[in-house]
Amino acid sequence: KAKSQGKNDYRMFSPEMYINSSEELLLENDLREAIKKEELLLHYQPQVDAFSGEIAGFEALIRWNHPVHGLLSPDKFIPLAEKTGLILPIGQWVIHTACRQHSSWMKAGLAPLKISVNLSAHQFLKQDFTKNVEEIMSTYSMNPAYLEFEITESMAMDFSYALKVLEELKSLGVQISMDDFGTGYSSLLYLKQLNIDTLKIDKYFVDDLLEGTYGSVLVSTIIAMADAMQLKVVAEGVETKAQLQELQSLGCQLIQGYYFSKAVPADYITENFNTLKTEFAAKR
Ligand code: C2E
Ligand code: MG
Ligand code: MG
Ligand code: MG
Repeated sequence: KAKSQGKNDYRMFSPEMYINSSEELLLENDLREAIKKEELLLHYQPQVDAFSGEIAGFEALIRWNHPVHGLLSPDKFIPLAEKTGLILPIGQWVIHTACRQHSSWMKAGLAPLKISVNLSAHQFLKQDFTKNVEEIMSTYSMNPAYLEFEITESMAMDFSYALKVLEELKSLGVQISMDDFGTGYSSLLYLKQLNIDTLKIDKYFVDDLLEGTYGSVLVSTIIAMADAMQLKVVAEGVETKAQLQELQSLGCQLIQGYYFSKAVPADYITENFNTLKTEFAAKR
């Protein structure tokens, strides 16, 4: 921002910026300690079958229980983690924690569930990422069929490198999902070439679903083409019954959104799994 305001602009070195960057430094120092101090945690948001109400799986979403600022959402610290490289240890922690949780849910007798884990570009592009994932999975005897990684369109900008990493990951047997689909520049054909299993339609399109005459045209086109290419589809950010019904009529199989549930702590799911199942079946 400062750059575009010109060289002599007083805002270049305003005290405000100084405060902001020192605040950022403080936060960075805290973040360095956050794993050790066990301040990071994962919440889990269900992905629900639009027609049966069955729980297909959960997306793991990181939170930071900061000693002063309270529970922070990822938007408050993931960009900083990416900027500082801390995303690598944090990302490792996320995969470990999600696999451990999955194993504990399996032992507790919950139905087979898929766990989706968000990746940052740094992780995805890091050498030996696949080997690393393989090691973590073996630590928790994780069945790879139940592990899904969510990537974003910008991570596949270098097509041939992305293709290489995705081929390695797929050879482990894990699933790959394209997050926030429709907000970037990739086409469905591109997803098919990259061997993606699932695409997640961004909330932006779901918000527009019932607006105006053409609100559902884009979503319906995406679903029809995804079907033809045998890609699974998840609609993100579904908040109302009306949106759910529209998505059902368009043939969208999986739903993630506040209408069914926000992301909740793991223990909440362990303790209320059967209640949640009944609740979702009644809401569909
Ligand atoms: P995302 O992967 O697209 O996750 C979906 C976000 O939408 C989540 O926000 C979720 O709580 C929110 N959401 C779901 N349904 C609804 C709804 O019906 N209405 C509204 N208003 N929001 C809904 P959250 O948890 O704040 O995460 C934000 C982003 O942070 C995620 O977007 C993802 O890009 C990133 N993120 C989260 N966890 C991780 C992680 O472990 N690693 C990395 N690298 N990024 C993460
Ligand atoms: Mg995601
Ligand atoms: Mg998303
Ligand atoms: Mg998003």
